[in-house]
Amino acid sequence: MPASSEERYDRQMRFSPFGPEGQKRLSRGFAVVVGMGALGCVAAHHLVRAGIGRIRLIDRDIVTWSNLHRQSLYTEADAEAGLPKAEAAAERLCAVNSRVVIEAAAIHLNPRNAEQLLADADLIIDGTDHFSVRYLINDAAVRYGIPWIYGGAVGSSGMTMTVVPGKTPCYRCLFPSPPPPGAADTCETAGVLPPIVDVIGSLQAMEAIKLLAGRGEHLHGALIHADLWNLSFTKMKTAGARRDDCPCCGLRRFEYLDAAMGDASETVLCGRETVQITPAGTVSLDLDELAERLKAAGRVERNPWLLRLAPEDGISLALFPDGRALVTGTGDPERARRIYERILSP
Ligand SMILES: [Zn+2]
Repeated sequence: MPASSEERYDRQMRFSPFGPEGQKRLSRGFAVVVGMGALGCVAAHHLVRAGIGRIRLIDRDIVTWSNLHRQSLYTEADAEAGLPKAEAAAERLCAVNSRVVIEAAAIHLNPRNAEQLLADADLIIDGTDHFSVRYLINDAAVRYGIPWIYGGAVGSSGMTMTVVPGKTPCYRCLFPSPPPPGAADTCETAGVLPPIVDVIGSLQAMEAIKLLAGRGEHLHGALIHADLWNLSFTKMKTAGARRDDCPCCGLRRFEYLDAAMGDASETVLCGRETVQITPAGTVSLDLDELAERLKAAGRVERNPWLLRLAPEDGISLALFPDGRALVTGTGDPERARRIYERILSP
């Protein structure tokens, strides 16, 4: 017999600034988490345990062995099966709290689908490690008037900031443009020690709880930087940092959201020897039929969300029904495209 809400959430409702009223509001809240890596796992886990009403988990990637040391919702079985992170996380979180409506979206957030995936949310949590996606979130959040909570972690340090459109500076007020490719450290180049993602992901979750509980006056109002190796914690107040000439919230030019999407594209996922292939236009693949056809060419694994195969030595390919593919084992976009086209040509 599942416990009543009173029993399940008793200890957090006893915290008087939150209380039963905060719980009631949280239970009607809807958050979208973009990127179910380390930060997304931590933030989504807290929100689901705490009894958020609905959560949508967006991630384009599959679980790999090098994720397991820090991405706390995944298991060895998930990596073995190469499950999409969004689906593996949704399954785990359903077991944690079956009352929460959990949606998994194993797709790549882009200008074409951003409105559909983000515009109905009460808030957005940034769990992505990609600057282009982060600027896209900032554009969408400001255009649709949705608060979003930035977070990033690498090495032993991380940063977070909460953007409330119309009230606080937006991300571009502080960081007008992304660093040039390769200029910023990533988890692949500089590594990451897991405790920092718990700190940053927890700060993000706490801000989300305040917002959804209707207690926005308690938001920290700062750009927070924490380093756990040298132990430092700095809080730079962001009040007054809004810029009238900010391209996004000042001039309302949504360059990332309104970017024309090219046709087919290849994106090298940072440092992971993986290339993402995105097909032109709308594609719908019959994965069962493909699996049947490709069996002759070697081992093919099918799970409910994707097809995995090893088309060449040292190369593995995960193919989604929308035609998107992750080609692992090469950082060469042209080689990845050739492999992809060979697989899909009848
Ligand atoms: Zn701005």
